[in-house]
Amino acid sequence: MTIRLDPWGHFAIEEYDKLFKQFGIEPIDKAIPLLPKKHYFFDRKIVFGHRDFDKWLQALRNGEKVAVLTGFMPSGHTHLGHLMVIEELRFLQELGAHVKIVIADAEAYAVRKLSREETIEYGIEYITHAIAWGLDPEKTEFYFQTAQKTEYYRLIQMFSRKVSMAEMEAIYGDISPGKIIASLTQAADILHLQLPEYGGYKYVLVPVGADQDPHLRLSRDIADRFHTELGLNRPASFYHKFIRGLDGNKMSSSKPDYAIFLLDKPDIIKKKVMMALTGGRATAEEQRRYGGIPEKCTVYELYMYFLYKDDQKLYKLYKECVEGKILCGEDKRIAAKLLVEMLTEHQRRYKEIMEEGIVQKIVKIPAF
Ligand code: SF4
Repeated sequence: MTIRLDPWGHFAIEEYDKLFKQFGIEPIDKAIPLLPKKHYFFDRKIVFGHRDFDKWLQALRNGEKVAVLTGFMPSGHTHLGHLMVIEELRFLQELGAHVKIVIADAEAYAVRKLSREETIEYGIEYITHAIAWGLDPEKTEFYFQTAQKTEYYRLIQMFSRKVSMAEMEAIYGDISPGKIIASLTQAADILHLQLPEYGGYKYVLVPVGADQDPHLRLSRDIADRFHTELGLNRPASFYHKFIRGLDGNKMSSSKPDYAIFLLDKPDIIKKKVMMALTGGRATAEEQRRYGGIPEKCTVYELYMYFLYKDDQKLYKLYKECVEGKILCGEDKRIAAKLLVEMLTEHQRRYKEIMEEGIVQKIVKIPAF
């Protein structure tokens, strides 16, 4: 079956392996030894694929001018799915890369039909979370699409000259005028850091979820076409698997009962985790006899993505689950407790940053 990736859709990709064959995304394995430091997202293949990430890492090791750019569409409150990207950025900043984050407010307005006020409020929330999670506000650049400089907008106009409708349809499927502009704006986001006015970075890495690959394919094609005229090079990228919502589908702010939001209160977190879809059996007796299925379990995913960074601990839980030595009710209570601890500390830092007005000091907030 052919997979169509839709950056604006709500879906889960079940078979990540197919992406290697169909779209030419490389498995992450060969790039991992080039990482100057380990990170469990890579070791556990949560980050599973890439395009030219090995070359980007080599450039980083060679001391070349490299940067990381990724975006957030401010169309809802920030949840654990977004936190995955923030954690990747924190790690890449720790490796020494310059990090820039785009708040795609123009896209959220055009494609998700939000009001300007909403897009800006959600954008500020995302930036605050990024800083609270550990991104250095003095070293990270944040910008809203609608508060950019002329050179950036000029890129969008220029790119429109060298793409055809047939190409856009081949990459995105059904596409509206709003989505065409959003795609070219994304290409400008991904490629503008290479312009002298924006730092002249040689190599830009874009860490994203697998559904965003169409934007990368378009940007790489555009970079080839503007290599001579603007000196653009193909961006590198890596892709992570989605953390699932507690109903087993992709975590999304449009399904709030099944998403863990970073500002959820402890009682809400506990309630959500206790009703999460697991890989448990119908009865306690069956579970003791046959064991659970962690691969199907959204609670196990919470441990794998955030709660147990120690591989030994994770392996122990896996073993206890498949051997029927732990039951889901007990395990959910442990997961909920750990998640509450993690997010209570994060919320404390979030509150401090809000009170200090840090975002307003470092980011140009667009007027409504
Ligand atoms: S015991 Fe834990 S990991 Fe295993 S299926 Fe139940 S909730 Fe999931």
